[in-house]
Amino acid sequence: MSEKTSAADFLPDGRSLRTLRQAALDCRGCELWKDATQTVFGAGPRKAKLMLVGEQPGDKEDLEGEPFVGPAGRVLDQALDAAEIARDDVYLTNAVKHFKWRPQGKRRLHQTPRAGEITACRPWLDAELEAVHPVGLLALGATAGKALFGAKVRVGKDRGRLLESPLAPVAGLTLHPSAVLRLRDHDEREEATATLVEDLRMLAGAVAEREAG
Ligand code: SF4
Repeated sequence: MSEKTSAADFLPDGRSLRTLRQAALDCRGCELWKDATQTVFGAGPRKAKLMLVGEQPGDKEDLEGEPFVGPAGRVLDQALDAAEIARDDVYLTNAVKHFKWRPQGKRRLHQTPRAGEITACRPWLDAELEAVHPVGLLALGATAGKALFGAKVRVGKDRGRLLESPLAPVAGLTLHPSAVLRLRDHDEREEATATLVEDLRMLAGAVAEREAG
């Protein structure tokens, strides 16, 4: 049998979130499944108005099989709270559905997925976008930003404003909550958290405005 090179080979006929999630468990569209515990598919309501897309599951997400349940997820939860957005109303997912890591002692250190792995996983993200059809789409961090909006987007220059995208009527880019965690300086951390909250508010506000018509 020839080696599969994309998630497209594993997409099911049915396109409900439940069917997609089930099918994604068996995805072998790139090499990343080999060292991961399980597929971490997106989570949230099918009718979510807002979809947030991160890079890939982390260590805790890999073990639990749910997105944004580790330390970065806690930062995101705090930011969502501050922006007065209910997490349960949001669809959360990642550009890549398996945890990519390398060992360091007993720890598993995150590794950024390669462009080829992001491309291989893209059919799942496209299927989620099709199923949820969000009004607002927010990429968290550079990897998700590039996956959704192209290689030229940069968090530094493109966050804090709405982006044109065929993927959703309202689109934007902000930093990944794990970028907040990496900051050691208290003030820098506060500032980064405030940035995340500000961008979440902006997206949610633009979605509400659009919905109001
Ligand atoms: S990372 Fe994506 S394409 Fe690769 S095996 Fe996992 S689900 Fe499939």
